[in-house]
Amino acid sequence: MSCIFCKIIKKEIPSKIAYEDDKVIAFHDISPQAPVHILVIPKKHVVTVADLQDMEVVKDLFYVMKRLAKDMGIEKSGYRIVVNHGKGAGQVVPHLHFHLLGGRSLHWPPG
Ligand code: AMP
Ligand code: ZN
Repeated sequence: MSCIFCKIIKKEIPSKIAYEDDKVIAFHDISPQAPVHILVIPKKHVVTVADLQDMEVVKDLFYVMKRLAKDMGIEKSGYRIVVNHGKGAGQVVPHLHFHLLGGRSLHWPPG
C-alpha cells in the first residue's frame, strides 16, 4: 500500500497528530493554508467522496471536526471544511480527507 495517508495512520511516516481514535485520525497539514489547517481522515482507505460506502464514518469525521474546531479556538471566529474531489478540484492525495481551516479571514468564492 503506497498511500501516504495510510502510512501516516500506520505511523510509518511522522505527522503532528491532533486527534485519534479507532476510526478517525486528524493531523496538521504539512503545508498549512491558514493558522489552523488540520486534515481529518477515516482510517479505512477510501479514495474520494464517490467511493464512500459506509456513511457512518462521515458522522465520526464531523464529530471530530466539530470538537477540534472548539479545541483549536476557531469555533467563534469561524472555520471552513473542504473536501476536494478529483483533479479539477485539486485533490492530490487519493485518500478521502476533510480540510479544517480557520484562524484567519477566509474569502468566498474559493479559488
Ligand atoms: P488535497 O489537495 O485536497 O488532496 O490535499 C492534500 C493535502 O495533504 C495538502 O494540503 C497537503 O499539504 C497535505 N499533505 C500531503 N502530504 C502530507 C503529509 N505527509 N503530512 C501532512 N499533510 C500532508
Ligand atoms: Zn490510504
